[in-house]
Amino acid sequence: MYSYRAPLRDIRFVVHEVLDFEDHYRHFGRDDLNKDLLEGILDEGAKFAETILAPTNRTGDEHGLKFEDGNVKTPPGFKEAYDRYCQDGWITMTASPEWGGQGLPGGFSLAFSEMLISGNMAWKMYSGLTESASLTLAAYGSDQLKQTYLPKMVSGEWAGTMCLTEAQAGSDLGIIRTKADPRADGSYSITGTKIFITAGDHDLTSNIVHLVLARTPDAPPGTKGISMFLVPKFLPDAGGNPGKANGVSCGSIEHKMGIHASPTCVMHFNESTGWLVGKLNEGLVAMFMMMNHARLGVGLQGQGLSELALQMSVAFANERLQGRSLTGPKAPGKPADPIIVHPDVRRMLLTQKALVEGGRVLCFLTGREIDSSHLNEDADAKKRSHDLIAFLTPIVKAFLTDASMEVTSLAVQVHGGAGFIRETGVEQLMRDARITPIYEGTNGIQALDLLGRKVFGTGGKSVQMMIARIQEAIAKFGGLAEVAPLATELGKRLEQWGKLTMELGGAAMKDREEVGAAAADYLAFSGYVCLGWCWLAAAGVASKKLAEGAADADFYKAKLVTAKFYFDRLLPRCDAHAAAARAGAAGIMSLPAEHFAFA
Ligand SMILES: Cc1cc2nc3c(=O)[nH]c(=O)nc-3n(C[C@H](O)[C@H](O)[C@H](O)COP(=O)(O)OP(=O)(O)OC[C@H]3O[C@@H](n4cnc5c(N)ncnc54)[C@H](O)[C@@H]3O)c2cc1C
Repeated sequence: MYSYRAPLRDIRFVVHEVLDFEDHYRHFGRDDLNKDLLEGILDEGAKFAETILAPTNRTGDEHGLKFEDGNVKTPPGFKEAYDRYCQDGWITMTASPEWGGQGLPGGFSLAFSEMLISGNMAWKMYSGLTESASLTLAAYGSDQLKQTYLPKMVSGEWAGTMCLTEAQAGSDLGIIRTKADPRADGSYSITGTKIFITAGDHDLTSNIVHLVLARTPDAPPGTKGISMFLVPKFLPDAGGNPGKANGVSCGSIEHKMGIHASPTCVMHFNESTGWLVGKLNEGLVAMFMMMNHARLGVGLQGQGLSELALQMSVAFANERLQGRSLTGPKAPGKPADPIIVHPDVRRMLLTQKALVEGGRVLCFLTGREIDSSHLNEDADAKKRSHDLIAFLTPIVKAFLTDASMEVTSLAVQVHGGAGFIRETGVEQLMRDARITPIYEGTNGIQALDLLGRKVFGTGGKSVQMMIARIQEAIAKFGGLAEVAPLATELGKRLEQWGKLTMELGGAAMKDREEVGAAAADYLAFSGYVCLGWCWLAAAGVASKKLAEGAADADFYKAKLVTAKFYFDRLLPRCDAHAAAARAGAAGIMSLPAEHFAFA
């Protein structure tokens, strides 16, 4: 059974050489976040992921969760790993010092999180949701709520959840029914049932703090009448410790295709005491903060699973002996050559490598921009960062999770029949990855968000901003001999992107259905261009390093080969997506619903 090795060489390449996080933090006066510190986090984080988490991944999948008397019991090793994570201070790393955190900007921590996800994605979800809930509470909670809950959530003593989904309300949150009746003391009585709640119950912490969307009796219909409430499993007693049970119960847990070690709970709130978070009827504004954080986290889940899939595929392709190379035996002393000699296997491996390594740049680049949005004091620069993050969030979420479907499926394919067998462990990756295009807003919803809100909602300015940003990279690296053809090609794609956006905008003015019909292909097109940007930067840095005579020449040469592969074989997918996006709504909408299947 393969065991995960943190891809530290490539992570270092991205964080130090491509994005230079140390310089980025120095620019904002955070000289304390120097290379030594960042390296320490990477080294120790890698050990935690490899030695503490990775061994629990398989057990978690096979053993799953136990649901007894309304309580969820996590798989063996989960609680021990969680306690260690808290004791070693990892859990407080990015939280604000005001609440007991260490104040490390979250951008760099994506590198650490990626390793944890590869180690055990299901395990990482418990603390990931608490982190999102804490951020939301810190931004929107009253002082009293923050004082009572944040220190315990930040230290990991208590966990957090997000409770949006109901049986009749998934993508459409406007029709949620959970009620919030005001009480005389300023609290609310929360009653309703939520479904699919990740980590709604478990035994890792002594209390669980739910952020619940609900409606007050006189709330306007639709999304404008939704408020957010904090509802703990146990009401804190006078000493701030878990006290009386709060009418919150887990009715059942789902039996799922993947992430078997992450409980997906039906949660009943029965006249539970809750407190308003943020303003009345503006619950979605607060929840969007949590969801945007979680959406980037889900994109990173795709990334972490893809990395492990790549590693397993490469290891297998070097070991498995089948057939001979088309140009004559490469391992004459063995009964057959390793399958990595075959062009088709290499095509699969390079597709994985190009998506994984390019995806890493895209994730960390978005993370670095998030830091800028917090650390920058200049209002214009802050806004520029916010705009870029808003544009990239649906792309990171949807494109990288769709990529994880391709990369994990290719991993099964590289393994042949063995890939379909549980023992290899590779099929777990494909099952675990399958949820990522669905939750935190399906990828269909992400595509609508990108084209409808982020592109047309800004009159196309967001795309112009992206194009200008990518042109800066073209100007920076386009003069390097090996990189010039890539820069020229990317420049053409930018022109195509601008034109496509204009055309779709024109069509959408006449018929709103055009937006929905084009959105998924538009997002894919945009994703490939953004990854092209990342690969251009990676190739540019590699080319410079080679010119300087860097010691690690093989690593940089591999970067250039992979960049070329991306531009030759994956970026051209843009053409198919552009054609499909242009094909219009009529061809999709003309078929009557009853004609989709004939008995
Ligand atoms: C394992 C797991 C964990 C989860 N964790 C949480 C959690 O912690 N908290 C929480 O609140 N929820 C959670 N969810 C719920 C998850 O966010 C929803 O499943 C998801 O948002 C989709 O909603 P739905 O399942 O109702 O699908 P639906 O909304 O019914 O969608 C079905 C299909 O229709 C499409 N569709 C729907 N509306 C539109 C539209 N307007 N335009 C175009 N296409 C549309 C969708 O893209 C999808 O393909 C979880 C779900 C799972 C399976």
